[in-house]
Amino acid sequence: MAEILDGKVMSETLRAEIAEKVAGLKKKGVTPGLAVILAGDDPASEIYVRNKGKGCQEVGMHSETVRLPGNVSQAELEAEIDRLNADPGIHGILVQLPLPAHLDEESALARILPEKDVDGFHLLNAGRLMTGGAGVIPCTPRGAMYMIQQTGLDLSGLEAVVIGRSNIVGKPMAALLMRANCTVTVCHSRTRNLKDHCRRADILVAAVGKAGFVTGDMIKPGAVVIDVGINRVDGKVRGDVDFESASRVAGWITPVPGGVGKMTITMLLQNTLEAAERSLG
Ligand code: NAD
Repeated sequence: MAEILDGKVMSETLRAEIAEKVAGLKKKGVTPGLAVILAGDDPASEIYVRNKGKGCQEVGMHSETVRLPGNVSQAELEAEIDRLNADPGIHGILVQLPLPAHLDEESALARILPEKDVDGFHLLNAGRLMTGGAGVIPCTPRGAMYMIQQTGLDLSGLEAVVIGRSNIVGKPMAALLMRANCTVTVCHSRTRNLKDHCRRADILVAAVGKAGFVTGDMIKPGAVVIDVGINRVDGKVRGDVDFESASRVAGWITPVPGGVGKMTITMLLQNTLEAAERSLG
């Protein structure tokens, strides 16, 4: 049976370290601050935003939610971002996605100062990740990478397969694995012989958005299996990996819930802490 990579336990350890560093910054007169902009009233977004606020509170950070109506204009949204860019008490700004359909997501993200872009979605941070520079790393792939490192494996030269090529998960995940000297294959909806690719993987990351998509027969015995998926099925949250069959073959596996999802918010807190530290120079 696979060893569980427990996001809850890892998060608790990391959040305790973050809280200690926040307390240290407060002594220097800086309270790390995160602002979340929420446009409209998407129920899933409401939950995410609430959890982000709770996370901040837990580690002693300041947080605020800027609620905008669903029919807010692009200019009003960007004016709000400008205000937060100029606010010295705010070190991290996050625009909760998806935005209502009439708004231009790319242009809103580009408006955030790159040093306050704690989601790591600004083109400059995405570019830095690809070129190996020091930028903000998107929270979900950063959390997934941390979990992979907790296996203690020497990652250099390992075969890594990422299923999914989105800008927020698949692509940055592949870039991080490349940085760790893995040999990386990115699979997507047009990939042929997906199973063959997966079965070669020492590290398999599933970011597909389909419940139970990856089954035990697609996994190399002893592999590290990272399940990024969050799918709601009959009121329950399920991952992209069929845990039952996969955990019998894998060497390590992340559960859903209690895996990568938990780490995502922890990494958001880490990115906000680092942004506040940078603001001190
Ligand atoms: P997305 O829809 O943007 O991308 C899905 C990717 O899967 C695409 O690149 C697509 O090519 C690929 N895909 C679809 N069908 C496929 C198939 N049959 N074979 C191979 N590839 C296929 O989704 P996303 O934003 O990257 O999110 C993926 C999943 O991760 C979702 O379940 C999402 O809810 C979850 N997610 C979780 C967290 C977290 O905090 N744990 C954060 C972000 C996203």
